[in-house]
Amino acid sequence: MSVLNTILSHAEKYKEKGQLVAIFDLDSTVFNVSPRTQKILQDFAQSKSYKSKFPKTLLENLSQVQVRTQDWGIKEALIRSKIEAPLEFFESLRDYWFEHFFSNSYLFHDEPYPGAIEFIKTLHKKGARIVYLTGRDKHRMGEGTHNVLKHWGLPLDTYNKLILKPKKGMSDSLYKLDMIDQLSKEHPETWAFENEPVNINLIAKELKQVNVVFFESTHSRREELMHEMPILKAEFPFLAD
Ligand SMILES: [Mg+2]
Repeated sequence: MSVLNTILSHAEKYKEKGQLVAIFDLDSTVFNVSPRTQKILQDFAQSKSYKSKFPKTLLENLSQVQVRTQDWGIKEALIRSKIEAPLEFFESLRDYWFEHFFSNSYLFHDEPYPGAIEFIKTLHKKGARIVYLTGRDKHRMGEGTHNVLKHWGLPLDTYNKLILKPKKGMSDSLYKLDMIDQLSKEHPETWAFENEPVNINLIAKELKQVNVVFFESTHSRREELMHEMPILKAEFPFLAD
């Protein structure tokens, strides 16, 4: 039985005696964020203030850059593009990307991974509690995140809830560890879906009671996965059998 089928059957089993909780990371787990980055690069290339600052051909070359699903940030796409430019150009682009990527305004460009939305809805119908636990912070990205979850018809209320970081700059991994620890104490069975090995390694080490599923899409490259666990690959649909 696939791990997704196992979770669905366990959700039904626990329905009557305290619900199973399924915790989903958002960026690069439920949503492919490459279209967000792609749109930000295009808008930089179209921006009037940068048109007056940088050569036209350079901005045209930038608008041709293709961001791939496996890319992390903008660096890899830019290296692949072989764009040559003064350091000031890359610094301006980095700052522009950073300001807009971590904001409410571009989140609607994210694309759910195939099957992810349907799986979460089905899991909810089977009786699981759904929690979205993200490294996004409330101030910069809370409203946009809430709107996107609603847009896709995902379960979202005071119980099936969205947990954002209260402040930017907090450690994602420590914050997630703390939240998952609390949730796991309130439920007979806990599953956490996550793409970032830094977070997964800490959770798997500290919270033995939690079942972690590695969503293999892209990550920060800061750590490799150090524990045995079920793996879902981003190139295959997020489907139960
Ligand atoms: Mg993530």
